[in-house]
Amino acid sequence: MSAGPVVGRRYPGPVPVASVFPRLEPLLPLVHKPIQYVGGELNARTADWDSCDVRWCLMYPDAYEVGLPNQGLQILYELLNEEPGVLAERSYAVWPDLERLMRAHGVPQFTVDSHRPVAAFDLLGVSFPTELGYTNFLTALDLAGIPLAAAERGPDHPVVLAGGHAAFNPEPIADFVDGVVVGDGEQAVLAVTGLVRDWKAAGRPGGREGLLLRLAASGGVYVPACYDVEYHADGRIRRVARNRPGVPWRVSKHTVSDLDDWPYPRAPLVPLAETVHERMSVEIFRGCTRGCRFCQAGMVTRPVRERSITAIGAMVDAGLQATGFQEVGLLSLSSADHSEIAQVAKGLADRYEGTHTGLSLPSTRVDAFNVDLADELSRGGRRSGLTFAPEGGSERIRRVINKMVTEDDLIRTVTTAYTGGWRQVKLYFMCGLPTETDDDVVRIADLARRVIEAGRAATGRRDIRCTVSIGGFVPKPHTPFQWAAQLDHETTDARLALLRAAIQQDRRYSRAIGLRYHDGRPGIVEGLLSRGDRRVGAVIRQAWADGARFDGWSEHFSFDRWMAAARTALAGQGVDVDWYTTRERTLAEVLPWDHIDSGLDKEWLWTDWQDALAGGEVEDCRWSPCYDCGVCPQLGTHTQVGPTGATLLPLTVADRG
Ligand code: SF4
Repeated sequence: MSAGPVVGRRYPGPVPVASVFPRLEPLLPLVHKPIQYVGGELNARTADWDSCDVRWCLMYPDAYEVGLPNQGLQILYELLNEEPGVLAERSYAVWPDLERLMRAHGVPQFTVDSHRPVAAFDLLGVSFPTELGYTNFLTALDLAGIPLAAAERGPDHPVVLAGGHAAFNPEPIADFVDGVVVGDGEQAVLAVTGLVRDWKAAGRPGGREGLLLRLAASGGVYVPACYDVEYHADGRIRRVARNRPGVPWRVSKHTVSDLDDWPYPRAPLVPLAETVHERMSVEIFRGCTRGCRFCQAGMVTRPVRERSITAIGAMVDAGLQATGFQEVGLLSLSSADHSEIAQVAKGLADRYEGTHTGLSLPSTRVDAFNVDLADELSRGGRRSGLTFAPEGGSERIRRVINKMVTEDDLIRTVTTAYTGGWRQVKLYFMCGLPTETDDDVVRIADLARRVIEAGRAATGRRDIRCTVSIGGFVPKPHTPFQWAAQLDHETTDARLALLRAAIQQDRRYSRAIGLRYHDGRPGIVEGLLSRGDRRVGAVIRQAWADGARFDGWSEHFSFDRWMAAARTALAGQGVDVDWYTTRERTLAEVLPWDHIDSGLDKEWLWTDWQDALAGGEVEDCRWSPCYDCGVCPQLGTHTQVGPTGATLLPLTVADRG
């Protein structure tokens, strides 16, 4: 689909704030799953437009079914709406069928709460968990009638802010956003709200530029227009320099220090249409210091900050009452690592036993304790499948990625699981890790065979299943692998073919082992967008103009379209897709995200990268001495783990009537 010449309407002056629903409604019977566009969910908020002086539109650049359950967006939505004089509404990416109709009928991008045009808001905040939402973001801007280029926006356009993990390298979208907030959003959105309110109350001094300068000078918002990028003749960045006085040379991430002060969402949204998670979630801690070298989420969310056992109990109770959900997920990057998780699991299992309330702990930790927790939480319920993530097929590669799991650990753990009545085990691995050889990947077949063997021996049954799921590794900014060469997609595909042949070779096991993987090509586009610089913005824009939408969905993704867009947009620049993806960087190179401060010390990251190449491991600083990654002193924070000595509240057994 081509975006075509018709873009969303450009409003010459202030945008009408009236609901567009009368124009949208006749289109809904013509599209797939129209209910996703109507709003009105349980716990949705609508505030009076005229009595608010700061109005946020919060957008998730993917479909409603993926975006609605997103915790980050729900947290900001609720806490902004609790603020006097502030309203926040939500918008999600519209599917191409509705996009076509909206263009044909002149309906702009809208919020699902009051169906107001997105362009009527003061602020458009977009959360990017991954880079694959960039083209949907451009669609939304275009449908909203907001110029794609930030430099072309006028006084009546919303200030467009980006956040989320992908925003830790905002350079590929630097041309399209007015500002970027990195790190935890809770305090940051309130600070931005205060700045916007003051600026409006003062009569909007300096106009749009005046507001952007205030945001930049606050130190809490990265405003790309305040920074110029210069390049060496060979394509590398020479320097990123401030072009305005009073703005910081690096912009730091925001870190909420006590999660108990931010018990959001208190009343989670209950979706009207089917979504990827039909449950309420409580975030039990933020951050991870296990030190997996491939994991951007773990690195950029340091240090660990646990929610107290008391606060978790109260949030689960309040959330269930507010929603009527029958399932609770205890969220974090590695939930079994909460220092009081055993008490949390037992307390919740006791409280909700017999109430048909399901409890789940998305944890992939490879040890028997994790299985014990899953046993506890599934008391009396169905034991379908357990997932473990050894990540690498050989012990050598697991040392490289700092995933300290031995083969014997894995076999012991799956034996415990199969013995406990679990019949399905899913194992998660990556392909394309630094220093990886064919052998490291083929060894996954041996592991899977040992897993099946162990399951059969432990249970005496033949119906044991193991699914091997493989993701392509993409080096990410702010990790020790940020300098690594990404594996080209042809070699990734060849390695995966070898693995499939190795699994199929032994008929005694092959039927019990399922293999799930994608080809290596989407990873190359993700790699380009992850470690790209400002020049990659032109590639995104070209791919979008050529029809790229919903790039995280295999049925919509087109590798050839992206490669053609890159050839066009990067022509004459001396750089190409390989330069951005399969090229190893040196310590001396200025990285596009060096002026975004995640708290991690670049020297430490480099040392950890060298340790990785030497197969050296690093412990978790929660239970071993600090190894000076830089985060705590840089951000004035510290690791917060229990035990708190408190008990889970409320401890009363729920009404089972
Ligand atoms: S500074 Fe030390 S304690 Fe803090 S996250 Fe880094 S290694 Fe852990």
